[in-house]
Amino acid sequence: MKQLKSSHSKTFHYDNAEERLNHIKEMEQDGWTCSGQVKEFTGNLYFKDEVEDESKYYYVGRFYKEERWLLMAEFCKDCFKELFIDDYTDDQLVISDDLDICEGCAKFKQVVIKIIE
Ligand SMILES: [Zn+2]
Repeated sequence: MKQLKSSHSKTFHYDNAEERLNHIKEMEQDGWTCSGQVKEFTGNLYFKDEVEDESKYYYVGRFYKEERWLLMAEFCKDCFKELFIDDYTDDQLVISDDLDICEGCAKFKQVVIKIIE
């Protein structure tokens, strides 16, 4: 068995717009993508006074991140970059701690084990 892909999501509520924007910056640096939804209604839609009540709306941040594992061969970073040229940045490539045989240059090297998209 080999896991091929894993998806993660996180949702946050904020006190104000500024807190939300700062947190989005932080999350994006960590590889998360924000959905773009700004506010979320937490009251009951059937009660008009709740719909009109500003305190029932929260600033929201919905984030998702997908990680894809390599399917077949294992390559060191140099060979990987030659094969996939500039498709991925260093930040997106997770490198193994252990040495493995690179299927490109056939040397014992640390190999790319995961791509973060
Ligand atoms: Zn190699």
